[in-house]
Amino acid sequence: MRLIFLGAPGSGKGTQAKRLQNSRGLCQLSTGDLLRAAVRKGSGVGLKAKDYLESGRLVPDDLMISLLVASMSEADCRGGYILDGFPRTLVQARALEKSLEETEQPIDLVIEFRIDEGLLLERLSGRRICPNGHGEWHLKFNPPGREGLCDTCGEALIHREDDYQDKIKIRLEAFREQTEPLIRFYKEKGLLETVEAEGGMEEIAGILEKILARHYEVHGG
Ligand code: AMP
Repeated sequence: MRLIFLGAPGSGKGTQAKRLQNSRGLCQLSTGDLLRAAVRKGSGVGLKAKDYLESGRLVPDDLMISLLVASMSEADCRGGYILDGFPRTLVQARALEKSLEETEQPIDLVIEFRIDEGLLLERLSGRRICPNGHGEWHLKFNPPGREGLCDTCGEALIHREDDYQDKIKIRLEAFREQTEPLIRFYKEKGLLETVEAEGGMEEIAGILEKILARHYEVHGG
């Protein structure tokens, strides 16, 4: 399975990608997670990306494309993968298409997570993440077992710099202007499936499983 998850920040695509990673042995390649790890490490990519990340703007395409290509070849993704947060621009989508053409392993399916903007604000402002990359929780919808602490490693959860209201606005604008055109791009290629993503985690997971079962029953793989 080679999947792209497309959706506004807070649409739940990362949460569903993590679930599928565990249940189906797929690689989850989250460009947001890769960038945050690079910033934590202080690597060259991290230093270049830091200001963009913290301000909520998109990181330049050339940097993102080389980051993704490098991590796809580093990670063991022979069992399939989910691209979570990439591509986010038409330039990225075309570069991905070109690079996959060379391997003759195109994307099978693009899942769009559609959600009302009002809900996104509540989801993002209450989100808390593990600084060691073990996932995310929500103060109201999905609190951790022990208040403020990661369920996996016990580290104090953090409020992402870009999950404050002013930054959320910038990120949603970037989504509308630069990422939304991808919906049409993939629809015209016959690759797009849309999930109405306003329900709870379990409900959305069920819908997603049905889409995947239907697709792979018809197309195999
Ligand atoms: P995310 O965790 O997916 O919400 O991404 C957090 C931030 O990382 C975004 O607001 C961007 O600054 C940056 N980012 C992640 N993926 C991309 C991408 N494909 N293109 C450009 N910037 C990205």
